[in-house]
Amino acid sequence: MHPEKLSGYREEDYLMLSGIQHFSFCRRQWALIHIEQQWDENLRTVEGNLFHKKAHDGYSSEKRKDIIVSRGMPVFSRELGVSGICDIVEFRRNDAEGIALYGREGKYLVYPVEYKKGQPKEDETDILQMAAQAMCLEEMLACRIEKGYLFYGEIRRRIEVPLEEGIRQQVRDAFEEMHRHYERKYTPKARRTKACNACSLKNICLPQIAKKQSARQYISRCIGEEEAD
Ligand code: SF4
Repeated sequence: MHPEKLSGYREEDYLMLSGIQHFSFCRRQWALIHIEQQWDENLRTVEGNLFHKKAHDGYSSEKRKDIIVSRGMPVFSRELGVSGICDIVEFRRNDAEGIALYGREGKYLVYPVEYKKGQPKEDETDILQMAAQAMCLEEMLACRIEKGYLFYGEIRRRIEVPLEEGIRQQVRDAFEEMHRHYERKYTPKARRTKACNACSLKNICLPQIAKKQSARQYISRCIGEEEAD
């Protein structure tokens, strides 16, 4: 077990929550963005950012009948060692099973809603991000969240996602591994997969070149050739 897990991570060691979608898509992509701070603002990421801007442009909240809608809510978890922003958090009034909110009458159940530009994906990257938000909210509000939602811009529909133990464990494991890599400043080597075609960093990553030889291999080969002369 990671020693930080006993008392929780320090705030200065928090990672960006949204990094879990990069990490689960490709560990190298996450390291290039979050450790080496490299990114390529291609069309896909620019469109995604604009769409996100609509969902949260600073923090705000509004009440519609029995639902309070919070946009751009900052969240964190000491246990996971992460912080981030929730696109939308819905607080639905439920006096029997909900939690009390400061300054609000009644009790509420809590549901994160994550906005995505495209359509539902085959992988679990979006689910993991939303589950991580839910786990932060649970820790901050001392509550249990049974489900959350993913809203996809292309189909203009939200999908309900149950937050089962399996997905929660994947979130814990991913952040634990991310913290280990981050401490060591470790960037995994490029490995060409199907994911590379849709990767916003493929021009920077250049897996086809990295695959052939690393800089270290090149230098030691040159030194070896000189010694042999
Ligand atoms: S190009 Fe492929 S290996 Fe490189 S960061 Fe993207 S997905 Fe990962």
